[in-house]
Amino acid sequence: MSDNYTVLARKYRSQDFQTLIGQDVLVKTLTTAINTGRIAHAYIFTGIRGTGKTSTARILAKALNCLSSDGPTATPCGKCENCRAIAAGQHIDVLEIDAASHTGVDNMRDILDAAQYRPTNGRYKVYIIDEVHMLSTSAFNALLKTLEEPPAHVIFILATTEIRKVPVTILSRCQRFDLVRVPVETLKKHFAWIAEQEHIELSDAANELLARAADGSVRDGLSLLDQAIAQTGGHVDEKSVLDMLKRADRGVVVEFMKTLLSGNTAAALEKVDEIYTNGADLSMLLNDMMEWTHWATRMHPALHAGETNSSPYTADQREQIYEIDNKVSINTLSRIWQVMVASVSEMQAAGNQKQCFDMLVIRLMHIADMPSVPEILKQQASKPSAPITEKQSQTETKNDKIKISSAEDLANALQKAKEILLYSYYSSNIEIVEFSEGKIKYFDRKGDADFAPKLSAWLCDKTGCTWVLERAQESLHTHTVTEKKQEELEADPMVASAMSLFEDAEIVGVSK
Ligand SMILES: [Zn+2]
Repeated sequence: MSDNYTVLARKYRSQDFQTLIGQDVLVKTLTTAINTGRIAHAYIFTGIRGTGKTSTARILAKALNCLSSDGPTATPCGKCENCRAIAAGQHIDVLEIDAASHTGVDNMRDILDAAQYRPTNGRYKVYIIDEVHMLSTSAFNALLKTLEEPPAHVIFILATTEIRKVPVTILSRCQRFDLVRVPVETLKKHFAWIAEQEHIELSDAANELLARAADGSVRDGLSLLDQAIAQTGGHVDEKSVLDMLKRADRGVVVEFMKTLLSGNTAAALEKVDEIYTNGADLSMLLNDMMEWTHWATRMHPALHAGETNSSPYTADQREQIYEIDNKVSINTLSRIWQVMVASVSEMQAAGNQKQCFDMLVIRLMHIADMPSVPEILKQQASKPSAPITEKQSQTETKNDKIKISSAEDLANALQKAKEILLYSYYSSNIEIVEFSEGKIKYFDRKGDADFAPKLSAWLCDKTGCTWVLERAQESLHTHTVTEKKQEELEADPMVASAMSLFEDAEIVGVSK
């Protein structure tokens, strides 16, 4: 590579409307207007960076001042003195102003004062103000004054990436053009053409990756291509671009999502380790996973919305996604999507991306094997004899029946029913091991054989349900109801402070 290497974006900058990439609507409207002599005093171009706003502004300036015809022409020659000076950014009547460095009102006034003088070499004095939204309010006001009564020989071309920050008063005096994101296919064609001009090997897969990473911006894409050429010495293949973009191969992403949705946590986390070790940026991986989820949802058999040619996946990969799609619901996919969206900012804020990502994977796996709310309801509806439903219906229909759901509930109910013998035996000798409605597992310190049949008969009568009483063979040294009450009492701050006043005090009983 020679010392005076010109970056591709500059070397292949569009010089006329015909070669402007991906802005067909704008080109058609502008050329028609110029050809029919309808020239506005102010234009504003908006769009993301690298879509050709300043290139278009320069082409327009050339169209207005080209010497190859008697008036403005939609096909500037590119060879005359004016065209060449404008292309080089050196024309005396074409002023390119970067609003970011001329935000003040004084700057703006000086610039605009000169607008009163007639152009020196051209037909029009052209003011190209880049990133116009950066101007201060007072600078905007100065600009507005000139826009309200522009001298006949002055044309303003404003460019901005943030149109919403431009005052409406300015916008209403400009003809607005929105430069669109350049489609992937158009970018690919352009990059392939440039590679040919530069005698560079650029594989189709590598080109696709670059075009997608460019996200609609010609300039971003070309600077990536510059970088890829520099790193590979002119043999740009898929692997080198993946490494450069710190991205995992799409096939790897498809494989990973398959593992993730299969519910094998260990395998999924292992895969993350592997991808991470291979140098992939985990935020990028999350991006790719979101792309996967988006396409899996579109391709889902229930939707049939993915039958387009624009899918980023190969036929093989699409087949794999279909396979997974048959196992997961749209509901699950949309919940996975939600968690991923929430994780984007989490990943940015996290000090340790790897930890954050591992946690995300676990959360996603949890979602993947968890039934959705409608699924749970459906399951319940199909099992009318499920224990919970049965008990609920009984408490609803038989109002005289009581509900007992804990060891304390049982003690209270026995006391209330004046079953004194049963109550005192239960509260002082029975350790509860497990208690659920309909089943009690207990240890009996005294071992009275009559206790279980008596209690179960009483429970059945009072609650209307069958109770299973299971006697444990060994004590787990848990408390009886009385012991528990005593303990709670001792923990009471009032009691504790009373006890501390009397050194040898002891609680011997509780009276009501
Ligand atoms: Zn010319």
